[in-house]
Amino acid sequence: MSRSTNRRETAKLATGMSVMEMSHRGSDFIRIAESAEARLRELMAIPEDYRVLFLQGGATGQFAAVPMNLSAQDAAADYVITGMWGKRAHAEGAKFLDRVNVAASSNPSTYVPPQDEWRLTPGADYVHITLNETIQGVRFATVPDTGAVPLAADVSSIILSEPIDVSDFGVLYAGAQKNIGPSGLVVVIVREDLLGRARATTPLVWNWFENAKSGSMLNTPPTYAWYIAGLVFDWVAGQGGVAAMAEVNGRKAAKLYAAIDQSGFYANPVAPANRSLMNVPFTVAQPDLEPVFLAEARAAGLVNLEGHRSVGGMRASIYNAMPEAGVEALIDFMKEFETRHG
Ligand SMILES: *Cc1c(COP(=O)(O)O)cnc(C)c1O
Repeated sequence: MSRSTNRRETAKLATGMSVMEMSHRGSDFIRIAESAEARLRELMAIPEDYRVLFLQGGATGQFAAVPMNLSAQDAAADYVITGMWGKRAHAEGAKFLDRVNVAASSNPSTYVPPQDEWRLTPGADYVHITLNETIQGVRFATVPDTGAVPLAADVSSIILSEPIDVSDFGVLYAGAQKNIGPSGLVVVIVREDLLGRARATTPLVWNWFENAKSGSMLNTPPTYAWYIAGLVFDWVAGQGGVAAMAEVNGRKAAKLYAAIDQSGFYANPVAPANRSLMNVPFTVAQPDLEPVFLAEARAAGLVNLEGHRSVGGMRASIYNAMPEAGVEALIDFMKEFETRHG
């Protein structure tokens, strides 16, 4: 085989272009986009009658898209609020619906109210929940049963960390930046029979039906984020899939909660059944030690441990990308810190 043939062969396999340079409608990018969707479908066992959309505007955009795609202005929807993101979703929903009922809420946000205490609205268009509240570290232990009323769930900080039965939901959405890839992308998984209910004023970019029809390409999608998401899906598959991630995540979380509970120096207020596997907030016995903890942790190479500015304290977000050794390093540091300051 001559050299020039070799070169031509190579050109056939690789375009020589960065994904950033590709046209989103060109066959090279279409291939990237389709294989990312196929991989996600495989990882989450997404049933055939669900559409997967790759959109922009983050989870916050979907707070508005959910009512605009599922309800008329004069209709009703129920929200179960178990932390700050659910509160935000409800506030946004209230702009687009005359009747947004808080079916249940926890105060303080340290547990999920049991379903037999919820006050659901007969004839509501949907029930909205946040499957994992990222800031408070509160996770639904079981998926509620809302019968014929579609369940809409924000799964931004739990997607791909443990198996989710997609068929329990009408719609799921997740900002990419926690467990999927770079920010700038939001993944929406919606049951086909819910498409076509959008009110006429729904902006095109958030209209699920129009996006499903155009393969999420009714305008330029976030191509680079979509590409990286596909690589992350491949990585999750290479780790053994979502069940294998869940096993590691379960171990990571169990070790960290055990270290907190056994210390008497650190504390986590969340009901054990509702403790998040992804986000572990904790406090130290004397609040004035918190800045000291954070500064010393940083010096030890342990960063991003500040609690969300709305709640303070500390929070270890131990997403899929955090290896078990990272959690062990944090636990070792916490024990050592307690010895010196406890
Ligand atoms: C991070 C997060 C959000 C906010 O996502 P944006 O993409 O920044 O809008 C919403 N909900 C949950 C559960 C989150 O973890």
